[in-house]
Amino acid sequence: MSEKFEWINEEMEALKQQGLKTHIRTIGSACGPWMVVDGKKVLNFCTNNYLGLANHPRLKEAARAAVQIWGVGPAAVRSIAGTLELHRLLEERLAAFKGVEDALYVQSGFCANQAAIPSMVGKGDVIFTDRLNHASIIDGCRLSSARVVVYEHCDVEDCERAIKENLGEYRRALLITDGVFSMDGDIAPLDRLFELCERHGIITMVDDAHGEGVLGRGGRGIVDHFQLNGKFDLEIGTLSKAFGVMGGVIAGSSTVIEWIRQKARPFLFSSAVTAADTAACLAAVDLLEEGTELVERLWENTRYFKEGMRGAGFDIGASVTPITPVMIGDATLAQNFSRMLFDSDPGIFAMPIGYPTVPQGKARIRVMISASHSREDLDLGLDIFTRIGKSVGVIG
Ligand code: PMP
Repeated sequence: MSEKFEWINEEMEALKQQGLKTHIRTIGSACGPWMVVDGKKVLNFCTNNYLGLANHPRLKEAARAAVQIWGVGPAAVRSIAGTLELHRLLEERLAAFKGVEDALYVQSGFCANQAAIPSMVGKGDVIFTDRLNHASIIDGCRLSSARVVVYEHCDVEDCERAIKENLGEYRRALLITDGVFSMDGDIAPLDRLFELCERHGIITMVDDAHGEGVLGRGGRGIVDHFQLNGKFDLEIGTLSKAFGVMGGVIAGSSTVIEWIRQKARPFLFSSAVTAADTAACLAAVDLLEEGTELVERLWENTRYFKEGMRGAGFDIGASVTPITPVMIGDATLAQNFSRMLFDSDPGIFAMPIGYPTVPQGKARIRVMISASHSREDLDLGLDIFTRIGKSVGVIG
């Protein structure tokens, strides 16, 4: 290797030493309750496929039909020649689903934050952001050049203190919180944050990536869960989790969304999402609007699995959603636990999460429950977790 890149060897070695080098597994099948991972068929507790839509026949058929009509790529950014009728239709359907005036469909949830945050605030403005907000929010804040003030996780009193200390000095203010926090499965106190922002004239934004399709009536998300429909200024979402496909969404009033359409760089300078993905998203919205059966099954599965894990003696934290953190503590033990799950017969695919994603000493295995898991799948998962938990002393 050229001398230019010796630093990579050194830094990679440091990552390995700290246990921070990620082994990226390769998937050899469609996403579902069982998947082929690194060549082995395993029970999948790892993906965000909350409603089992990632391999749903209706979505696949919609994508197949769209390819026949529209081809495979728009070959343009949305603002030049890439806005398909399908994109507009999806935006209208998503806005109606969420009970807001308009929505903007972008390439991913990550992009949605890069698009929305710098469009709303810039130099001379301030952002109040939860300590545990997602990386795409953190990066969106950095991109905006606004001053970033972090408040303690879900702590409304600390948020109020931060606002009072900082507000007067700035032109505009924005508060951003994850709806559901992806490593703990807890939810933001959205009603109290909203009330606080109303009092101080602060723009409100929630990233509901893990709440859509999960919380609220028929999976309408965390804003619906708190009955704040149409009141939150910006709802960020993703079509890559419960909706099972790809893309991000920014939803809000027509004034705000039209402004973001004019300003957001991922919208203006990066090509549009394909017709196949968009059509599959539309089929997902159809399914969610047709009935609540999938959302109910997701919650039944979640309750069943969590009760089983608590009954076996596991600490599963403060989660109130299908995200189930199985607390292990030590990072190396969490990694070993995950490897033992994978190597068992049958194997279980569940990721260890350690520092710096979560605080030191709080390493965990994150279990993601899906409506597509059968009762047998969940029983099998409980059985293998319990067996390994006992063998390594995580439970008695
Ligand atoms: N926001 C949050 C809270 C997320 O958890 C994620 C996905 N990990 C994203 C945004 C990014 O969404 P996408 O995968 O669609 O880019």
